[in-house]
Amino acid sequence: MIKKFIRKILGVKNSAESGKANPKPSVLTAKEHGINPKLVSANAIRVTQTLQENGFKAFIVGGAVRDLLTGVKPKDFDIATNATPEQVKRLFRRAFIIGRRFQIVHVMFGQDLLEVTTFRGPSNDAAPKDEHGRVLRDNTFGEQHEDAARRDFTINAMYYDPASQTVFDYHGGIKDIRKKTLRIIGVPEARYREDPVRMLRVVRFAAKLQFEIDAATRAPIAVMAPLINNVPAARVFDEMLKLLTSGHAMACLQQLRKEGLHHGLMPLLDVVMEQPLGEKFVTLSLANTDERVQQGKPVSPSFLFASLLWHQVLEKWDAYKAAGEFPIPALHLAADDVLNAQTDALAIQRKIGADMRDIWAMQPRFEKRVGKTPHKMLEHQRLRAGYDFLLLRCASGEIDAEIGEWWTGFINGDAEQREKLINTKPKASGAPAAKKRKPRRRAPNKAKAEE
Ligand code: ATP
Ligand code: MG
Repeated sequence: MIKKFIRKILGVKNSAESGKANPKPSVLTAKEHGINPKLVSANAIRVTQTLQENGFKAFIVGGAVRDLLTGVKPKDFDIATNATPEQVKRLFRRAFIIGRRFQIVHVMFGQDLLEVTTFRGPSNDAAPKDEHGRVLRDNTFGEQHEDAARRDFTINAMYYDPASQTVFDYHGGIKDIRKKTLRIIGVPEARYREDPVRMLRVVRFAAKLQFEIDAATRAPIAVMAPLINNVPAARVFDEMLKLLTSGHAMACLQQLRKEGLHHGLMPLLDVVMEQPLGEKFVTLSLANTDERVQQGKPVSPSFLFASLLWHQVLEKWDAYKAAGEFPIPALHLAADDVLNAQTDALAIQRKIGADMRDIWAMQPRFEKRVGKTPHKMLEHQRLRAGYDFLLLRCASGEIDAEIGEWWTGFINGDAEQREKLINTKPKASGAPAAKKRKPRRRAPNKAKAEE
C-alpha cells in the first residue's frame, strides 16, 4: 500500500505500462483468487508435480490460468518451468521436443497433450529482426518474471501452482480480469512491431471474453494493421483458425472490422466481409461453427474455409459456365482460382485445400437424383461434410430446401425408402442454382486464351 503510494507520488509507471520485467509478483492464495481446483486437469497436476519433485519450478500458465480465474474449464493446459527442454523430456515417457524458433516439449498422456515451455529470457535487442522490426528468432531462456514480461496481455501472464494453490501475478492481470479489460504488457507499438499477430490476438480475446480493449492497447492498431502482411502466411493461418474456431467467430469478425483490421489484411477476410451475396451463407456457417464449438463438438477447418470461400467459387463457376465451359470442369477451374489466390496469402495447407475441393465438387452431384448416382454418393468418404454443406446452401436460400430434405431422407432411409425416393420425381425447383443450365457447345479453353 505504502509502496503504491510512493510510486504514485513519484509518478512511477507500473510494469505493464513500462514494459519492464517486474521481479515481484502479487501472490494470491486460494481464498483470494477463488480458483476451483476441480477445473484443473489431472495431467497438468501430474506434470507440475513431477517437475517440482525433481527440483524444478513448474506452473500452469497463460490462457488456462485466465480461464480458471473466470470460472471457465480450460480447453488446454500450458506449463511453464525453469527446466530446459532436455531436462523436461527426460522426466516423461512420452515427451517430444518440437519447434525450431523456440523449443518446447509436448508431453502426452493418451490423447491429452500438454505443452511445456521453459521460461523465456528478456527480449534481446540484438535479436534478428526483419526490416519492419518483427523479431525473427529470440531463443534465450530466463527467469519467471522475465517470462511474464514477454507474454502478450496482463491476463495471460499469470502462473498457478496447483500444489500450493497459489497464483503469481506479475502485471496486474487479476485486476484486469475483474475490470474485464484487455491490456497489452509493455509499450503497445513496440509489442505489435515485434509481433504483429498480437493485433489479431487482441481481437480474438476481446470478442471471446467480452472484455473492453484498454485505450492505449487499442490506439495503435488502426495504423499498424498493415504490418500483418509481413508475417509468414502459415502463422496468420494458425491465428485465423484459432479466431474462427474460438466459439465466437462472428463476434471476432465484427471486432476485426471495428478495429479496421480486416481491410486488405488478407484476401479471405475481404471476401468474407464484403460479399453481399454470401453474407447470409457465411453468417449461417459461422453461427453453426460457434454452436458446435460451444457444445464441445469438433469443427473441421476444411469445412469452415470451404464455406467461407463458397460464394467466391460460385461467382467464378458461373463465369466459367457463361464462357461455355461444362459445369463440372468449370467448378474445378473456379476451385483452382480460389484456392491458388488464398494459398499464397493464407497458406491453406495442401490437405485442407484438397478436402475443400472435395466438398465443393460434391455439390453438383447432389443434384443428380436418378439412377445409381445417389447410391454412389453414399460411399463417398466425405459424404457427411458434403451433405452438411448442402444443408447450409439450402438454409441460406441459395438452393431449394427440397434438395436437402430429399438427401436427409435418402441418407437416413432403408433400401426400400431409398428406392422410393429415387423413383419420386423431385418437385420442380424455382431456386436459381437448381435450374439446369444448358451449356453452350464447349469453346475449348476460351477463357484461358483470353487471359
Ligand atoms: P486460448 O485459450 O485461446 O488457447 P491462450 O492464452 O492459451 O488462449 P495460446 O495461443 O494458447 O493462447 O498461447 C498461450 C500463452 O502464450 C498465452 O496465454 C500468452 O501468455 C503466450 N503467447 C501466445 N502467443 C503470444 C504472442 N504472440 N506474444 C506473446 N505471448 C504470447
Ligand atoms: Mg492455449
